[in-house]
Amino acid sequence: CKGSYVKCFAYYNESLSVSLAREQEIINEMNTALENHQFIIYLQPKIDIQNGKPCGAEALTRWNHPKRGIMAPNDFIGIFEQNGFITKLDFYIWEQVCILLRKWLDNGYQPYPISVNISRVDLYNPKLVDMILELIRKYQIVPELLNLELTESAYTDNPIMLSETIERLQKHGFTIMMDDFGSGYSSLNILKDMDVDILKIDMRFLSKTKIAGRGENIIASVIRMSKWLNIPVIAEGVETMEQVAFLRSVGCDYVQGYYYEKPIPVEYYETKYLPQGHY
Ligand code: C2E
Ligand code: CA
Ligand code: CA
Ligand code: CA
Repeated sequence: CKGSYVKCFAYYNESLSVSLAREQEIINEMNTALENHQFIIYLQPKIDIQNGKPCGAEALTRWNHPKRGIMAPNDFIGIFEQNGFITKLDFYIWEQVCILLRKWLDNGYQPYPISVNISRVDLYNPKLVDMILELIRKYQIVPELLNLELTESAYTDNPIMLSETIERLQKHGFTIMMDDFGSGYSSLNILKDMDVDILKIDMRFLSKTKIAGRGENIIASVIRMSKWLNIPVIAEGVETMEQVAFLRSVGCDYVQGYYYEKPIPVEYYETKYLPQGHY
């Protein structure tokens, strides 16, 4: 924006109206897209850092758009969280994961657990736990097979509701992963107040630090602290061999990232990660 103020403003205005139009289009299309099964699951394996073997996967939503092709969640999840549609989409995705697990079990496989994302918006639904329980009952899935990822930012909204929801879900046998751990302002309070089962930390923090070595030290400290607290750690966004070596040296338990595998279509996951599955 080196030109005149007026030019700069006009440019800003134009791109703003383009993105507003785009947003409106997404809102107009979302319900039909859901009915037409345009929202699909990609799976990204989680790897046990000690033996390098897969031990689970995360379900990540993609919008298979008839005109735009495969769209990533950053293009639509934020909009859906604003207008409430996310609760519909998330429930749909959880059900699709249950259907998938049921199909694998019926075909004689013993799949690794799949984790699903729960939006902070979903936590305002008082029926949330009952709806999840009804799902696993409907498809006869043991809670150990459906892991739940809750984002750290939900803590700031309502810590009491979050801890009650976590407790109820754990009582029914679900594993709760605290997603994006360390990204917010309340990470230490979460460790103090919430009995989460697994922490997920993002390696992409590393690249953003101004002081050399500080990101590594922070991650090493978080891992040491979680060891004291007996909470296993998954590092996500792991892209290089050096990161894997570092994480192994500081006692990280699991890794997830492009170094091992990007999120992949279900059919590909089935050929590569299903036959050797066990839990
Ligand atoms: P997240 O839950 O933190 O998921 C991890 C994101 O990091 C995914 O992005 C994944 O593809 C990406 N990732 C994994 N490994 C690497 C790596 O090595 N390098 C890099 N650069 N990226 C990596 P994705 O699939 O685009 O999803 C973005 C976010 O959208 C997710 O972040 C999650 O917050 C949200 N999301 C995705 N699916 C759902 C869903 O079904 N429901 C809800 N509520 N949110 C979802
Ligand atoms: Ca996640
Ligand atoms: Ca994350
Ligand atoms: Ca626990």
